[in-house]
Amino acid sequence: MADLLSIDEALERVLTRARPLEGEAVPLGAAAGRVLAAAATAAIDLPPFPSSAMDGFALRAADVPGTLPVVERVAAGRPAGRALDAGEAAAIATGGVVPDGADAVVPVEYVVEHENEVEVPGAVEVGANVRPRGGDARAGEAVLPAGARLGPAQIGALAAAGVAVVSCARRPRAAVLTTGTELRPPGGPLSPGQIYESNGPMLEAQLRSAGAEVERLPPVEDEPAAHRHALERALEADVVVTSGGVSVGPHDLVREIEADLGVEEVFWRVAVKPGKPISFGVRGATLVFGLPGNPVSALVGFELFVRPALAALQGAVDPGPVFETGRLATPLRRNAARDELVRARRTTGADGSRLEPLSGQESHMIVRAAAANALVLVPRGDGELAAGEIVRYLPLPS
Ligand code: AMP
Ligand code: MG
Repeated sequence: MADLLSIDEALERVLTRARPLEGEAVPLGAAAGRVLAAAATAAIDLPPFPSSAMDGFALRAADVPGTLPVVERVAAGRPAGRALDAGEAAAIATGGVVPDGADAVVPVEYVVEHENEVEVPGAVEVGANVRPRGGDARAGEAVLPAGARLGPAQIGALAAAGVAVVSCARRPRAAVLTTGTELRPPGGPLSPGQIYESNGPMLEAQLRSAGAEVERLPPVEDEPAAHRHALERALEADVVVTSGGVSVGPHDLVREIEADLGVEEVFWRVAVKPGKPISFGVRGATLVFGLPGNPVSALVGFELFVRPALAALQGAVDPGPVFETGRLATPLRRNAARDELVRARRTTGADGSRLEPLSGQESHMIVRAAAANALVLVPRGDGELAAGEIVRYLPLPS
């Protein structure tokens, strides 16, 4: 089994084929979670005018300490009033336009107000409590670069800079096809030999959480014509994710039918546990993932290979998977031939993350796996990882 691809080699083969999809205009209100296809530039200087950081009095620093006449009152949202002359003050609200001639704002807490006069007992520095025009960003400057992921802070920044529409790679269209004569949808009765189909709903949820638009096809029996018919349709998508039928059994038809339909296989089988029989191929620009049928193998295979591919299609510069580090709570035996991803419960304390491997690590045990929020990477080799050892883990999305 020394000839099996490593996780990293397999991932590289996937990512070199996952080119960003073409950009489309996205209104800012719909852009959260998307990735910028082009840098977004500020439409204006931000702040657009010198604005007061405090409720107080705008004046010239050189005029205080002293008592100054209050010649105007400036509210937020109003145009600038008249320029101040030497020795004058203007009452001003937070966010108000600092009048020309003023170079500082003294907070209301530091003054004594009289009718139409303000007494400023202390000195103030030039520029105090004045937010200069363009201090956060300049018109025409990049607010965010291409490849930036739009989380809440980024959406806020774009809105503040006057950007109403951004260019993002379009969402990948994904098709999910599960294979297996034994599969029945949950909700109905099961006949002997049948099981409930769990990979379809699970993969659909994973794909959606990774930003894809998903079409879930009805499960197909282990029969060539049914596979052919469904795969022909699935291959119209940007990404095809199948489950089951990629092992070496007589009913494992997925790779053979895909080859008939023009899918060029890039790899089959990776040195990973669970999920060794995973396959990956391309037809034109369509990426075709064959995940094994065991539910935990499908879950893990998706996180290792499909989620990063979807991020790359959406233009992410660092598509992952992003492993983090934590401390192992109990020892774990290594697998000699395959890197293993062990389902674990991560808790976070003052000294970082602690990873408690769960009982029930077999690849059909999806209910046991549902208690996990992390996949601990156990590199292949001899012996074991000791309790307390620092390990890498992949957080599972919640
Ligand atoms: P396969 O990869 O087709 O050999 O399937 C491996 C195991 O996973 C078998 O026990 C299947 O019954 C099971 N399995 C396959 N597809 C699914 C599915 N969509 N949902 C739940 N279990 C499945
Ligand atoms: Mg099967």
